[in-house]
Amino acid sequence: MKRILLLLFVTTFLSCNTTTQKDSNDNQNVQQNKFAIVIHGGAGTILKENMTPELEKAYEETLEEAIRVGYDILKNEGSSTKAVEASIHVMENSPLFNAGKGAVFTNDETNEMDASIMEGKTLNAGAVAGVKTVKNPITAAIEVMNNSNHVLLSGAGADSFAKEKGLEIMDPSYFYTERRFQSLQKIKEKEKTQLDHDEKTAFYDADIKNSKFGTVGCVALDKNGNITAGTSTGGMTNKRWNRIGDSPIIGAGTYANNATCGVSSTGWGEYFIRGVVAHDIAAQIEYKNVSLKEATQNVIQDKLTKMGGTGGIIAIDKNGAIAFEFNTAGMYRASMNDKGELTVKIYKD
Ligand code: ASP
Repeated sequence: MKRILLLLFVTTFLSCNTTTQKDSNDNQNVQQNKFAIVIHGGAGTILKENMTPELEKAYEETLEEAIRVGYDILKNEGSSTKAVEASIHVMENSPLFNAGKGAVFTNDETNEMDASIMEGKTLNAGAVAGVKTVKNPITAAIEVMNNSNHVLLSGAGADSFAKEKGLEIMDPSYFYTERRFQSLQKIKEKEKTQLDHDEKTAFYDADIKNSKFGTVGCVALDKNGNITAGTSTGGMTNKRWNRIGDSPIIGAGTYANNATCGVSSTGWGEYFIRGVVAHDIAAQIEYKNVSLKEATQNVIQDKLTKMGGTGGIIAIDKNGAIAFEFNTAGMYRASMNDKGELTVKIYKD
């Protein structure tokens, strides 16, 4: 009898203790006050020798403006989704980046934009592909996530959905920028030269490898421990046949899970889709229990590189650790942590 009583006592004590422990862990998570934000403005052959000091300054200033807007939202108890949306708006509204205003041209000389968003708390997600009139495609993606039964809408349907929801709609001419139009003309000129099939393939490969991609993305961890990741792009110059890249594909261009991390990708989209890059990073943390640094290095420097893919990612894990990883010459990028420490970089360190 004494033994049974002792056993009962020990079991009750242990279960009370576990509950207290769990509650205090939950509180710790909620009150950790650890928040962070990271953005990218595309990866590619970004070399100092090809950059003018004025252009470099313009990129740095816009990256800093974008990261500070998101940081202020997080600092003032705002959600990671609000921070991601606001930071991406700054880049979408700038002609410098291949998203929104600065979107690249398709072979038909139009602009077709893709975007996606994912919240790590609920694993809810939304995306649009091939929109032609939405000023801020990231907001259309958020609208799909919050106010539709779907995850991914495309083409004219996605444009009508955005209009119906009262989003800002522009005439397609708003997305015209001379710089992007000239990039398309250069590629078209080269295409006219007589090349056999293999030469043509080699030309396209080299062209993609040499191009700067310029997609934008943001990942944020807010004070409640919620991670959101978002990506917005004009895709790739000279794309045809309503080609869709990785940016609106959940798991490839964007992924977030509060249990692991959030990721936004930029680069040669076909490889990021085949490598399921953003999800692979989160999965390595979940199943192999590796650090964010290890997971991002493994996926970008080893797996993606071996496939022949080029590009990079930004990521934040549930503890607020920040990662930038790319296998190209540069990646426009910036981050801020909860101490307000700012990093803005373009080239490899
Ligand atoms: N990943 C984008 C795409 O393939 C391009 C980019 O990152 O710039 O559409």
